[in-house]
Amino acid sequence: MATKKSNTIKLKFDSSRNLAPAPESKSAAKINSRYDLFINGKFEKPSGKKYFDTINPATEEKLSEVAEANEADVNKAVKAARDAYDKVWKKMPAKERAKYIYRIARMVQERAREFSVIETLDGGKPIRESRDFDVPTAANHFFYYAGWADKLEYAFPNRNVEPLGVAGQIIPWNFPLLMAAWKIAPALATGNTVVLKPAETTPLTALKLAEIIEEADLPPGVVNIITGAGATGAAIVNHPDVNKIAFTGSTDVGKIIQRAIANTNKKATLELGGKAANIIFDDAPLDQAVEGVINGIFFNQGHVCCAGSRLYVQESVYKTVLRKLKDRMESLIVGDPMDKNTDIGAINSRSQLEVINKYLKIGQQEGAEMYQTACSIPKKGFFCRPTIFTNVAQSNRIAQEEIFGPVLTIQTFRTDDEVIEKANNTPFGLSAGVWTDKGSKIFNMTTKLRAGVVWANTYNKFDPTSPFGGYKESGYGREGGLHGLNAYVSLV
Ligand code: NAP
Ligand code: MG
Repeated sequence: MATKKSNTIKLKFDSSRNLAPAPESKSAAKINSRYDLFINGKFEKPSGKKYFDTINPATEEKLSEVAEANEADVNKAVKAARDAYDKVWKKMPAKERAKYIYRIARMVQERAREFSVIETLDGGKPIRESRDFDVPTAANHFFYYAGWADKLEYAFPNRNVEPLGVAGQIIPWNFPLLMAAWKIAPALATGNTVVLKPAETTPLTALKLAEIIEEADLPPGVVNIITGAGATGAAIVNHPDVNKIAFTGSTDVGKIIQRAIANTNKKATLELGGKAANIIFDDAPLDQAVEGVINGIFFNQGHVCCAGSRLYVQESVYKTVLRKLKDRMESLIVGDPMDKNTDIGAINSRSQLEVINKYLKIGQQEGAEMYQTACSIPKKGFFCRPTIFTNVAQSNRIAQEEIFGPVLTIQTFRTDDEVIEKANNTPFGLSAGVWTDKGSKIFNMTTKLRAGVVWANTYNKFDPTSPFGGYKESGYGREGGLHGLNAYVSLV
């Protein structure tokens, strides 16, 4: 009798992948060597004549230099926004305002490739993400809010809807164009005018947007985009003629802003940090859950306020999940953000890399066990290997503080009550994820998790129609959807 040969093929995992490079071309992007301030519909030199560099964090090469706006420039921008509000924008019929917003949306779409390339060069995120997520979602926000502009009476039935006036908007570096769209689109749709400041390390797509706004013939002063550091942001916050502050950034700066506007009439929305729990129950489809964990923490190098940075796994499936997670992590490609194969690009700046590295040390000193993938990382530029910590205690700093990098802590739990208590036990409350086969469990968890957004059997899903925002130290106010309109109107 012939012996039956085993036909099981042993798959040997190849972490190097050896994929041929697939670089996106830089030629789609036109970047000026210097950018001025976009005030009153044109680019103007900064009154202090100071400029600062923005670099490509993947290569450390200078891309351009941008103007530093001082208090006098902020005054000019706010005055332009006020004049445009009083004389033009608030008087314009809503359906006319909508046409401008639609025009901006279409122009962002038409120049999607240029925006994606610039976003990736300036901020370090993989081109696949800029191309497939940041830029289309930004265009969608303009489309969505353009649609609302002449329908506000249906958004707020039986109420008299008034704009607030001049909105001061300050945004971070993790989703530069998308954050600008999140803020500008609802402000314009509700009849407000805008002074926006992008983050120091990623000003270029906001300045490209300024070029589009100029080409779209938006009345001068309706949108002003000024660059600068924290002091420029503070000057916007403290300006007496600004009616509303929309801030996305760190909890520390959020607190400074909150103090600065106390005792004023300024309305505010603060979208701050997070430390989301991503929870896997033993009845969950584990492969999908692991994929969701990967997306939750490694999307945009973990520079995501709602990143699923704390993983809670039900004890009975812990070993299986950990093995699957490590296997999947080993397949992640870290490197050139312009390469379409890249999963994890560059950390946004040297200082952010230092913050992440500080936490890697703290985690080990606290007694947690660190695992990093074996992948190679480029010698130049700012990179960090995908990292997980096991043996983590709830009180550890790595489980309590926002790291804002590709670093995941993993803990186990036995019961629903235990994981709810652990998940809610941080100063933040922005988002959470639940993986389970049972609808009833999802409902139980979503009602008890103190988080602005809870995803079930998925993660990091965004849509202009759904509101986003936090509890506790993650801030207040909602952006997106109908709720996002509310933040820019007064209802009489
Ligand atoms: P950040 O340091 O707070 O900076 C955010 C923006 O505020 C930047 O434009 C910054 O300018 C400016 N700024 C700094 N100091 C200021 C001050 N005193 N007054 C007014 N403006 C000031 O935050 P980041 O490090 O750029 O961004 C990361 C943080 O944003 C994370 O904590 C993350 O969780 C949070 N985030 C939250 C959400 C959300 O929706 N909840 C979304 C994305 C990010 P410079 O660039 O010059 O410092
Ligand atoms: Mg940069």
